[in-house]
Amino acid sequence: MILTANFVKGENTMSLPMAIGGRLVPAVLTALLLFALSAASVQAGALNVVTTTSTMGMLAREIGAERVEVRVLAAPDRDPHYLDARPAFMAALRRADLLVEKGGDLEEGWLPAALTGAANPRLNSGRPGHFRASDFLHLRRSITMDGPNLGHVHGEGNPHFQLDPQRVAAVAAPLAARLGELLPADREAFEDRARMVSARILEHAETVATRLDPGQRFVAYHEDIDYLEEWLPVEIAGYLEPLPGIPPTARHLRSLADSLRDGPEGVVLHAVYQPARGAEFLAAEIGWSRQALPMEPPANGGLEDYLELMQVWAAAFQAGE
Ligand SMILES: [Zn+2]
Repeated sequence: MILTANFVKGENTMSLPMAIGGRLVPAVLTALLLFALSAASVQAGALNVVTTTSTMGMLAREIGAERVEVRVLAAPDRDPHYLDARPAFMAALRRADLLVEKGGDLEEGWLPAALTGAANPRLNSGRPGHFRASDFLHLRRSITMDGPNLGHVHGEGNPHFQLDPQRVAAVAAPLAARLGELLPADREAFEDRARMVSARILEHAETVATRLDPGQRFVAYHEDIDYLEEWLPVEIAGYLEPLPGIPPTARHLRSLADSLRDGPEGVVLHAVYQPARGAEFLAAEIGWSRQALPMEPPANGGLEDYLELMQVWAAAFQAGE
């Protein structure tokens, strides 16, 4: 432990030979140094990828492997609609070779400002360095597309598609193609890994879905968790927000309670970053259970973290039985 700490800090140049028995001859040391240098140059050729959310970060990391260095902007426990264009975001974007955003207006409130601050022409819209996942997907239709639009607008459809593994899997191939455009020598490796990742996700989604009893109902806070309806045998029964982006009102909650009270039981769901009060009120009124769901895998998460998250989402229904 002590030797490792010293080595990391670069304070004890004797640590390396001592650590492996003190029997290293200069020639071996030179070879080790050369190896370290060549490893460093591989790293230097890696693509600097910035993603807005950690699900997109997971995909980039899994597909790009050692050829990418991934930085996620939005903390997984923060609402990606409402972030600030922080200087740290601009600094990350300034150095990036590739920006991966979800699109569908999700990042509209802060990403354009962060990009302006970053002044990195590689990431300009339409350039290979700007990947918009929603360009490659049919988003779930949003209530806001039919108006009236008073809260925030999902004008291109519901952008919260990370809750649907099928759509996440569908982003893998176009993202691999884009990485391959930027690093042509690795194109086939990216494509192979994308196929593996999307197959794993789809297979897991099927397994998780078949374990649930069909026909369970749920209420969501926002137009986001309703994506679960796309792959689990569950049914959205209402939203706590009267319109996306408009906080629940007493009147809306009461009419929601009236419409649900006599029907089959269900579960009230909201994201960890959405207020619990309206959900608690409704759940108490109609005798349903309530759950706060994580919406994204950890910021540095991999495929396994995303697969686990899918199970957490499904478990909300088992708990509601
Ligand atoms: Zn939204």
